[in-house]
Amino acid sequence: MSAHAVDGSCLLAGGTAGPAALSALLSAALDALATGAAERGGPLPGGGPDGVAADVRRTVGAAGRVLPERGTGPRESLDALVRAVARGAADPADPLCAGHLHCPPLALAVAAEVAASALNPSMDSWDQAPAASELESLVCRELAELVYGGRPAEPPAGAACAPGGPGAPGDPGRAPDALVTSGGTEANQLALLLAREAGFRRVVCGANAHHSVHRAAWLLGLEPPLVVPAERGVLDPAALDAVLRRSGGAAPLVVATAGTTDSGDVDPLEEIAALAARHGARWHVDAAYGGPLLFSERLRGRLAGTERADSVTFDLHKLGWQPVAAGLLAVPEARGLRALDHRADYLNADDDTDAGLPDLLGRSLRTTRRPDVLKVAVTLRALGRAGMAELVERTCEVAERFAGLVAADRRFELYADPPLSTVLFRPAGATDRTVALVRRRLLAEGRAVLGRAQLDGRLWLKATLLNPLARASDLSALLKLVADAVPHVPKGRSR
Ligand SMILES: *Cc1c(COP(=O)(O)O)cnc(C)c1O
Repeated sequence: MSAHAVDGSCLLAGGTAGPAALSALLSAALDALATGAAERGGPLPGGGPDGVAADVRRTVGAAGRVLPERGTGPRESLDALVRAVARGAADPADPLCAGHLHCPPLALAVAAEVAASALNPSMDSWDQAPAASELESLVCRELAELVYGGRPAEPPAGAACAPGGPGAPGDPGRAPDALVTSGGTEANQLALLLAREAGFRRVVCGANAHHSVHRAAWLLGLEPPLVVPAERGVLDPAALDAVLRRSGGAAPLVVATAGTTDSGDVDPLEEIAALAARHGARWHVDAAYGGPLLFSERLRGRLAGTERADSVTFDLHKLGWQPVAAGLLAVPEARGLRALDHRADYLNADDDTDAGLPDLLGRSLRTTRRPDVLKVAVTLRALGRAGMAELVERTCEVAERFAGLVAADRRFELYADPPLSTVLFRPAGATDRTVALVRRRLLAEGRAVLGRAQLDGRLWLKATLLNPLARASDLSALLKLVADAVPHVPKGRSR
């Protein structure tokens, strides 16, 4: 024990001495990050799954196994493993890494994440997270205001002109609120759960809805969702109307998407809101991807109608530049979350709650829960709404610029102008098989990470552009890599 205490394996991160202990270890970790990134030298390692696995096994094997009999000490361990994971990373900070809704995190947010880990508050009871829980409730209410701020006030029953509606003073239950989630998947699950508890047991969603909607229905014991066609990636309101007319007595939950995972398309939210209202349906907007457009005065109009939804999924680890995890589920009235209330004597005994200790257990289905709110709060304060808006706008401009390059290049076909920051394209005249091969070749050679999307019956390459700092030269380099990866076809033969 004493040998390890001396070499730093058993120093603690918290308290007044923690930061000094951390500082030396963090500098070892940062050195390993820099070395690993330099060894990789690109957006991802070359060699494909076999090459990367061999490198990781070699690194682990140098200590004998993952759990060696005698430890190697903190510096060796940090250096070897952080370096190996960095060397073998698909790094979204590289503009050529644009496959998924996998964002490059801001250094600022990562620094806050380190502090959050050092303090390690757990968000399931006030006595584990006194300040963090208060910060969480402020962040949640303010982000819910961002979503629902434009919602028309409903006068409370029996009061002709009382100061009701969102933010009504004195009745926090009627003000917008949000729950912190591990991402869009958990937020969608909670949305379906809240709907089920409110009596909406059938889900209707577009063919463009995220797979997590289907899984949530399965998990919650609901019938499989009724799927409405999505023409050109967007839910068809006429088809939705027909389904709602046929749904008989029991009104369903309608799930719309603001920023689809495949193409970044936004469903016609105003029309869906009107249809849901006409048919007495509940409705949810999955804005996991598009939600941060609400920061921008210029772009928030694209999400008009969201403020009328019964719940909204909103991720900040996609267009919000947070390290995973940073998700939210917003609702127009905090009291709509009461279905999640739950008791565990050791966390929220009635007499503790009566004596004024905040009851946190109903704010998640999880028990032990990370303080993801700190990095979010630090980011929002440092950048302000205007700074967040600028990052979102710049990212959308990067996508427009890339789409412009594709459109101007006769070797490629562009699917459509990007509604958000996703650009779908394919080599002109290529087969689906060639499209898939080009993607895998770029991955195996460690040159670029692009995604794939099946739309309109064809396979497309997907550039999910989330790096606001990507330069024009990065984008032309990406397009050139794709052109060079297309198998050469001798003249006179078709691919
Ligand atoms: C990414 C995404 C999700 C899932 O979110 P996670 O944060 O990955 O759990 C849900 N819906 C949409 C539209 C998404 O793009």
